Amino acid sequence: MRRRLQAGERRVPVGKGLIDFITRIYDVAVVGAGPAGSTAARILAARGLKVLLIDAKKLPRDKPCAGVVSAKTLSVLEQEGLGVPQDLVEAEIYGLRAFGPNMEPVCMEPACEAGISLPGRPRLGITVRRRAFDWFLTEAARNAGARLIDACRLVGVGPSAARDTYGGLPALWLDTSKGRFEARVIVGADGVSGATARLAGIRLRFRWWELARTWSMDIPVNLAANRAIPVTNVAEIYFPPIPFGSGWLFPHGDHVNVGIGYAAFTRRIFIDSDGPSSQSEPHPAFSAFLNNLARVKGWEIQTISATKPGGPKEYLVPAGGFRRPIACGQVLLIGDAAGLVDPFTGEGMFNAVRSAKIAAETITDFLCGDFTGYRPAGRGGRAPAWHPIAYEYTRRCYGALLPELRRSLILTAVFFNKGGLFSRLLRRDPRRAAWLARVMHSEGAYRRALTELLLR
Ligand SMILES: Cc1cc2nc3c(=O)[nH]c(=O)nc-3n(C[C@H](O)[C@H](O)[C@H](O)COP(=O)(O)OP(=O)(O)OC[C@H]3O[C@@H](n4cnc5c(N)ncnc54)[C@H](O)[C@@H]3O)c2cc1C
Repeated sequence: MRRRLQAGERRVPVGKGLIDFITRIYDVAVVGAGPAGSTAARILAARGLKVLLIDAKKLPRDKPCAGVVSAKTLSVLEQEGLGVPQDLVEAEIYGLRAFGPNMEPVCMEPACEAGISLPGRPRLGITVRRRAFDWFLTEAARNAGARLIDACRLVGVGPSAARDTYGGLPALWLDTSKGRFEARVIVGADGVSGATARLAGIRLRFRWWELARTWSMDIPVNLAANRAIPVTNVAEIYFPPIPFGSGWLFPHGDHVNVGIGYAAFTRRIFIDSDGPSSQSEPHPAFSAFLNNLARVKGWEIQTISATKPGGPKEYLVPAGGFRRPIACGQVLLIGDAAGLVDPFTGEGMFNAVRSAKIAAETITDFLCGDFTGYRPAGRGGRAPAWHPIAYEYTRRCYGALLPELRRSLILTAVFFNKGGLFSRLLRRDPRRAAWLARVMHSEGAYRRALTELLLR
């Protein structure tokens, strides 16, 4: 006769059921193998947890991105024992150049030629191909012991019928295109359009004022008929006459990446007055930016079509700085899924790996430590009706990242027309522009930026 199970005990199956039991039940399931998901999976697996990493796409995959990995992102990865190998580096950035609405330099010589930099001219970042860089991070997670399943889309999440298993935490099930898995904690790292937030009841979608739109494309170096595109160690930032918008030109090995980003809500109000836009043709604001760039650089650019391979791509970016739910129960959101992109610069990978690290540390503390007596202190001394992991992750993540994101959001709002007041301020005193380099180089630069730009 079968022995009756005690509370919290789970019957271990035999045969095929045993294999399923072993391969389908995890401590942590990470959804999305971008920089955020792969970093979280690697840290968790390295700390001895059983980790599943799934991605909807067949890996390695492409991702529309300017491909700048800032020096501060590199140092977070290095702190976790992961140095980026030199063969992934397409260009090293030591300086920045800024250009006003008419493509004129906003900083005086000599700062403009070599680019705005910091004392000692430290490296501000590198450029990478996202396909290779993300795959490098995913491989590192796999080498640390995480199980990777690609072409595996998350379609459902819910509490498992087997309550009170796995050391007191109720299990969650994940339905995917490759079957059902169970985990004690789920980390949603599935990007701006990811499903985890919605399926776990954290958030239906980002609100319209929280999103930015981007148009970007790679231009091969040999595309310029008249003059070679200089592939230097300087990144170029443009302030075209687009409200809440800016443009960029970043050097890569054999190409440059150019693009614009602007608040999604300005699309109809301001920009579409230039003419209709459809997915098959680049946005008029992007075409105008590209034409102006071609004019000042002396490039000859043929007709550009968004439907052609290598043509410009439109993509959404979720701006950070807003306090929104990023966790619920045993489901935590990180990276773009949590909406942690720097609203002023559009840099997302730094907070993707920072939030991944914070989530991994919180999960390890709870799964490997004793949290039975943990009572999160809510407002007025009352414990909020949250799961402790969700509460603790939100507290740690926003405690570490929100102040800087808020400062960046304030700067974005004050200088909504970067081609106007912002360019004038930089032109008047080019030293002010050094904070742009500092933002790429080290954490905490916005506090000083606010003082330097607004109070000087
Ligand atoms: C044009 C552009 C330029 C940018 N330039 C820069 C830059 O130069 N530097 C910088 O730091 N940041 C840049 N960013 C932002 C940066 O790309 C993102 O912040 C970063 O990729 C976020 O990483 P992530 O891991 O959170 O999400 P992602 O990189 O988006 O990864 C999410 C993963 O989840 C997977 N996924 C989605 N749905 C599911 C599902 N249902 N089930 C399973 N898997 C799923 C996807 O396939 C994807 O692999 C740029 C963004 C854009 C759009």
